[in-house]
Amino acid sequence: ALDQRESMFLVSEYAQKYFHDVLLNTEEGKAIGLSYFKERGFNGETIKKFGLGYSPEAWDAFSKDALGKGYQLEFLDKTGLTIVREDGRTVDRFRHRVMFPIHSMSGRVLGFGGRILTNDKKVAKYLNSPESDIYHKSKVLYGIFQAKQSIAKLDNCYLVEGYTDVIQFNQAGIENVVASSGTALTPDQIRLISRLTKNITVLFDGDAAGLRASVRGIDLILEEGMNVKVCTFPEGEDPDSFARKTAHGDLVEYLQKNAKDFIQFKATLLVDEAQNDPVKKAGLIRDMVTSISKIPDRIQREIYIQECARIMDISEQVLVSTLAQLVQKDI
Ligand code: ATP
Ligand code: MN
Ligand code: MN
Ligand code: MN
Repeated sequence: ALDQRESMFLVSEYAQKYFHDVLLNTEEGKAIGLSYFKERGFNGETIKKFGLGYSPEAWDAFSKDALGKGYQLEFLDKTGLTIVREDGRTVDRFRHRVMFPIHSMSGRVLGFGGRILTNDKKVAKYLNSPESDIYHKSKVLYGIFQAKQSIAKLDNCYLVEGYTDVIQFNQAGIENVVASSGTALTPDQIRLISRLTKNITVLFDGDAAGLRASVRGIDLILEEGMNVKVCTFPEGEDPDSFARKTAHGDLVEYLQKNAKDFIQFKATLLVDEAQNDPVKKAGLIRDMVTSISKIPDRIQREIYIQECARIMDISEQVLVSTLAQLVQKDI
């Protein structure tokens, strides 16, 4: 007998084919889902490459179809694709949404993100598969299956927030891109990337609020011994919207010109923030040194100390002694 997880994979892979087929070959799918994707500028090739789909508006269109094909309710339930209500009725988790299948590194379908078709801010925009024996959201990166060869070949990985950022970049010819799907990056996710490259470029949505939070998460990447660059976009733009309005050559040039070494970027950000307030500045120096202390390589740490001293206009000695308090080993 097939094991449980394999049965869950098979159900998920059937669902991916079903949603994709509904998108391309039904009146409802074409009128609603395909027009939505076209409106966002996704072409047919892109839709195929990412296996995008559409879930119908009816209560149980997918569940009924899958059960009819012989897939067992047990696995439809375990993957969260079907919800079994208290009265025994089965309903689809995903309805009236465009569907983004989430693949493992090796291309198996682990789960889905489903987006509503409007920009209604009162409703949660994305609905995701629940955690299950095959889908652990802290261990997956959206787009890794499509990106892995390009990441290894170019020896760099762009990290973005969302599904559509990954897809729009691919369509613009940039394939070495994955998304954390809106959450803070986890050590497991970083390790997925570090198997392919030690160089990561974080692309922030262009809103100041998200920036400080994301900057914090980056210490985790440094801890893995990776080289981190960051690149910001103009206010109100995310990588998707920016890529869409920018010609390919200009996009590549923008990324090259605006990717800054993370430690230098953070030092500059903190200097701006502290202005001339000495109390603030002391706190920020500690913050800065905490980031540097995460870097495993001692020589690299020393180089960063020199640069930060210059950028923050303080003596190297202050940074070195603060660092010594934080790093016990090999200093
Ligand atoms: P779009 O361009 O389709 O409006 P986005 O990708 O720009 O969406 P963001 O609001 O920037 O959306 O969020 C980034 C990512 O965070 C999304 O792609 C999604 O993976 C995740 N996300 C956002 N909102 C939710 C939500 N309500 N529930 C779960 N995940 C979400
Ligand atoms: Mn955002
Ligand atoms: Mn967006
Ligand atoms: Mn966004």
